[in-house]
Amino acid sequence: MRILVVEDEPKTAAYLQKGLGENGFVVDVARDGEDGLHCARQLPYDLIVLDVMLPRRDGWSVLAELRRTDKSTPILFLTARDAVEERVKGLDLGADDYLVKPFAFSELLARIRTLLRRGKHEHGDVLRVADLEIHVASHKALRDGKRLELAPKEFLLLLLLVQRSGEVVSRTVIAEQVWDMNFESDSNVVDVAVRRLRRKMDDPFPRKLVHTVRGVGYILEARE
Ligand code: CA
Repeated sequence: MRILVVEDEPKTAAYLQKGLGENGFVVDVARDGEDGLHCARQLPYDLIVLDVMLPRRDGWSVLAELRRTDKSTPILFLTARDAVEERVKGLDLGADDYLVKPFAFSELLARIRTLLRRGKHEHGDVLRVADLEIHVASHKALRDGKRLELAPKEFLLLLLLVQRSGEVVSRTVIAEQVWDMNFESDSNVVDVAVRRLRRKMDDPFPRKLVHTVRGVGYILEARE
């Protein structure tokens, strides 16, 4: 498996190259947007990790350019804290997932494995679990064919749970990835948001998809 990391910050780039290398990936690093675009066009990568703030050509421009010709290579972008609208923008432009900096390496690895497992065939704009459908680029969520009215953060929360479906997602990860919160302090925010989300996407339907894992977090899966 070959991964392209587009990251200008030398420390982060080295850290990613080393960590991913140790986990069996072949890693190429591009130091700016132009170089990133050039590399991505030269070789068929299995996945691209793309920083947003880059010299010469920013991550958005790289993403848009790549998606004009390549709809299928999974792209995970790295975004700054306090920038919810950036996450939405990245998904709009055709990225598959994002991580908020600073992130734990274990979380990056989990996301990468999930994206690779999903594979190129299933990859695309629509994610499905049972009768739940998520249209990533247009931010639509449907259940049983009916549109769910979700606020932007509720959509990001649901997207995170769906992308990791079948895995427990901890409150800490939810707080970091959806709220930019560092989260020793107030676990209540996540629980309240999940409750609100469930009211919209689970309560009206006989089959429940979001399940509580006591003391840890939440898991989204279709149980019998
Ligand atoms: Ca950067």
